[in-house]
This record gives sequence, C-alpha cells and structure tokens, in this order.
Amino acid sequence: MLISLSEIMTTKDKVIQINAPIELERFDYQGISYEFAHKEPVNLSITHLGNKVVMIEGNTNISLTLFCSRCLKEIDFPMNIEIQKEVDFNLTDEERADGLDETNFIIGYNLDVDTLIYDEILIGFPMKLLCSEDCKGLCKNCGTNLNEKSCDCDTFVYDPRMAVIQDIFNNFKEV
Ligand SMILES: [Zn+2]
Ligand SMILES: [Zn+2]
Repeated sequence: MLISLSEIMTTKDKVIQINAPIELERFDYQGISYEFAHKEPVNLSITHLGNKVVMIEGNTNISLTLFCSRCLKEIDFPMNIEIQKEVDFNLTDEERADGLDETNFIIGYNLDVDTLIYDEILIGFPMKLLCSEDCKGLCKNCGTNLNEKSCDCDTFVYDPRMAVIQDIFNNFKEV
C-alpha cells in the first residue's frame, strides 16, 4: 500500500493516522517463499516535524510459517514489529542511499508500507530456527524424522561386498 505524504508536507506538525493493511502475500527470502500464519494492519502514525522532515512510527504483529532447520517441521514464528523512522525529504534518493539510510520504502513522496514491513521482517528473520533444542533432525540416509521414530540406518555398517554389487548394477544400467 502506498500512502501519499505530500498532503502533510505543507503544514508543520500535521499527522496522518492510519491502519494500513499489509498487502504482502508472502515473505520471499533467499529463494524461499514463506507464508504468513497471521498478519495485522500496521498501526501507523506519520508526523511532519517541519522543514520536510517526517517521523514514521508504527507497530504491528505478524507471524510467519517457518521451518525447523533440522527436521523441517513447520513453526509459527511470531514477530512484534515496532517502527520508528525519520525521513528527510530534503535529501535526494541518492543522498539517502549514500548515508546508508534504509529508506527504500520511500518512493517520491509516497510511503510504501509493504517495503517498510518487508525490511523489518528481514531484520528480525532468524538465521537458524529449531522446533526444540534437542531436535534430532532427519536421517541423512533415508529421511526419517528421528523425533518421531528411529530407522535402521543408525546401525548401518558399510560392507565393501555390497559396493561391488552396486558397481556391477550401475554398469549394467549404463549398457
Ligand atoms: Zn526439528
Ligand atoms: Zn535412516
């Protein structure tokens, strides 16, 4: 959702208060698309502090459906998002970028709510997530979820005679 800020820019101390829906359908990150288990509109308050400097404050609660890093079980990951950003509209887009100011959520005189939220989710996104501290993960050989049951692979002993048979079988397939 884009919110035009040009209207409040004419008057100092003018405030916009709005409940802006999050229109992001999913959170795409590193080639994976994560679903929202829950999302609420962003409770936004945007204040013109004067001289084209705007304070953007907001909060929302969302929850993403993520996966355990070991066993891939789905986990609801709630995030409480608190936003407080000051944007100086006297600067050009390039000047803001040079100042390492993360204001890619500003397009001209518009606030892009979804980009703002995307950035905040990115900051809070966990590098690693476990369904429990002692998650046993998946068997690397057969894929069994070792939290639910054990498999026979744990006792697997490498037998060179089997490898020879495997080679013969593979050669046979190639003919
Ligand atoms: Zn797990
Ligand atoms: Zn196994």
